[in-house]
Amino acid sequence: MGASGNVPRLDLRDEARAQAVDVKAAGRPAACVPEMHARFDHVAAETARRAAQGGRPLACAMGCASCCHSLVGMLPAEAFRLAAHVDGMADAGAIKARVRAHHAAHGAKGGAARMRERIPCPCLDPDTRLCRVHPARPLTCRAMNATDAAPCRRALETGDPALPIPTVLAPHEALQVQYDAHAALGRRLGFDTRAVELSGALVVVWDTPEAEDRWQAGEDIFAGCRVATISDAPIPRFGASESG
Ligand code: SF4
Ligand code: SF4
Repeated sequence: MGASGNVPRLDLRDEARAQAVDVKAAGRPAACVPEMHARFDHVAAETARRAAQGGRPLACAMGCASCCHSLVGMLPAEAFRLAAHVDGMADAGAIKARVRAHHAAHGAKGGAARMRERIPCPCLDPDTRLCRVHPARPLTCRAMNATDAAPCRRALETGDPALPIPTVLAPHEALQVQYDAHAALGRRLGFDTRAVELSGALVVVWDTPEAEDRWQAGEDIFAGCRVATISDAPIPRFGASESG
């Protein structure tokens, strides 16, 4: 993402670091995800508040889903949490069928191709354009923010993922902090925290007996759906895209 605008520089990295969840304390990495998400949401809400105070409120709103047409990367622990959330939904069968069909048709495509072809995330309701798994959506989705929705729409209409989007940088920084903190704990405790693609990871979790135990024991169950970064473009590093 590139950016422009006059939003005062926000630096919530310290807050995000302070809030990074200790997965060891939580016992099982997937069990800590709701708390990790709640803490991240606090950072995001503070970002939105400060952006509004600075005269450039965030444009993100329910039903605005241009950004839901790309590759969604997430932490393996989030995949277990999301899979369990879907399992508990009244229409779990329908959502699982959508995820499986999406994975079969598009699993091998990168983010740029998905945007070019306007392929929606399988968790996006095509009628309401609302996220059907909103409470368990991954950090990547929670970090999305823009101060103008029009460039997001243009990016989707033109299929050009390189179009500059005016964003506030702080959530991306906080996302990086969370990923880094998770990776450090994974190294210490012996599980693999590299990012995985949403549909592929869900299928792995649903189709692998004892998936979480096996992953936590070091088995590489996500080998076929790993993504190099959160999207398939490099994560915006601190200072890489500006207006926050
Ligand atoms: S990032 Fe853009 S497309 Fe996504 S919710 Fe915000 S304004 Fe809408
Ligand atoms: S999980 Fe939800 S918020 Fe994230 S891309 Fe899919 S539909 Fe959008």
